[in-house]
Amino acid sequence: MTRICVSVCEKTIDALESAAIRASESADIVELRIDCLTRLEDLKPVLNRISCPVILTFRPDEQGGHRVLDHQARKLFWNSAPQTEWWDVESDLALETDWSRIIISHHHFSRVPEDITQIYEQLAATPAHVLKIAVQANDVVDCIPVFQLLDRARSEGRDMIAIAMGNAGLATRILGPSRGAFLTYAALEEENATAPGQITAQKLRSVYNVEQIDRETMICGLAGQPVMHSVSPHMHNAAFRTAGINGVYLPLEVHDVKTFVERMVHPRTREFDWNLRGLSVTAPHKSSVMEFLDWIDPTAQEIGAVNTIVVDDDKLLGFNTDAAGFIEPLLKVIDSLSGLRVAVIGAGGAARAAVWALLRQQATVTLFARDVAKARSLKQVFDVSYEPLSSASFADYDLVINATPLGSGELIEQVPVTAEQLHGASVAYDLVYNPIETRFLQEASKAGCRPVHGLEMLIAQAKNQFELWTGQTPSMNVMSDAAVAALDH
Ligand code: NAP
Repeated sequence: MTRICVSVCEKTIDALESAAIRASESADIVELRIDCLTRLEDLKPVLNRISCPVILTFRPDEQGGHRVLDHQARKLFWNSAPQTEWWDVESDLALETDWSRIIISHHHFSRVPEDITQIYEQLAATPAHVLKIAVQANDVVDCIPVFQLLDRARSEGRDMIAIAMGNAGLATRILGPSRGAFLTYAALEEENATAPGQITAQKLRSVYNVEQIDRETMICGLAGQPVMHSVSPHMHNAAFRTAGINGVYLPLEVHDVKTFVERMVHPRTREFDWNLRGLSVTAPHKSSVMEFLDWIDPTAQEIGAVNTIVVDDDKLLGFNTDAAGFIEPLLKVIDSLSGLRVAVIGAGGAARAAVWALLRQQATVTLFARDVAKARSLKQVFDVSYEPLSSASFADYDLVINATPLGSGELIEQVPVTAEQLHGASVAYDLVYNPIETRFLQEASKAGCRPVHGLEMLIAQAKNQFELWTGQTPSMNVMSDAAVAALDH
């Protein structure tokens, strides 16, 4: 059974009441963080307005709370606290109370402590109804001990909440209930999260279908760093839902790809059992992951990058769907690329896939890179010409492609080239997809070029990944609508 607990933390009793009422509309349980109130007041009027079970929490600052509280103050609070369904009480506080309502908790806000097993055993030695351990994840592998705790609690018949906090721990919030977690916490609004890595109840349901996830659910994910900005979870989860596939796609924040593959991914070495079917791989791991795979598709081998992994029995297979995803949108606006003069700006991973695909279509490719040494090394692999980016003019090119990150994120206001430089080119293709309308495409439109949007490539490569994992073709419209909605948001 999946329970979503929305946690609310407000400074005044009126704000707490209002937040709690809103929370109870989307929550199975509401947590009231009383330590956030600047002044303690009678809670009964608030409790009378909440229509679902309540957890009362009065957290001291050393456990992540908002108040400096000594033992005495905490005991005093609990001795006169109202009778709610649950009380979340830290493990250092010995209360003489009805243990059937107690969630006994331990928090660690910097990492996973080495003695996490002993902490579990100390909590389990109490008669508390629910055991709770929340630790900070600094890499996705920090989710492993948390999942192992849930497995152990299940086998010992104990109710448990185990969470890896932070972006790297998101998998525990999404998969926890399917692995027996008593509940998963959510924020009322993203900006009001009460713990690192908490997402909204609305997102848990509408993006991750958390209530439908069970032990049989096929798991896919995006491995990279950073991954939280990605719209891929929106696209793949929407496509799973529409196709009626019991699957979920998660962002997995991976810093050390070798450790990740060994401990979480490879069926022969991984340290816990999950129904992992495949991964998208993004920067910075597309090349470095290759040495840990059992087989690599010749296309990915030639490009020198894997962006898709399929878990096939006890083997890991590597593919590259970027190259085909890159070409698909182009072939909608240009009948044939054969003999076309194409300028590719940038010499990174996306440029490699683009150049490989363009050469397969018999285009004539010139690379434009700020780092001539990088361009030279790509020339050695693909035998294309290169020129420095500064002062380039594209009048002689049919197609100009931006394969740099300029125009997105912190570089949103930047363009690799101006309208003046683009003048004379026919088509301009920006691989950047966030925002959908980039500065580069605005310059291209001023120069009279036909635009091709990076979002189309994103959807096309995602479609190919979906097919590799499921054997089914997803609805492109569903993927596109989900991506556009996420980008708009
Ligand atoms: P990458 O491997 O980091 O390569 C980026 C390239 O851009 C490098 O050659 C880099 O040059 C160059 N660059 C960075 N800043 C620059 C600047 N200020 N001026 C000139 N060149 C600059 O990244 P990537 O994986 O190739 O991705 C590139 C872009 O394509 C990203 O925005 C990514 O989101 C997008 N992309 C989109 C899709 C899609 O499906 N639409 C797929 C893949 C990638 P240095 O080496 O000198 O730093």
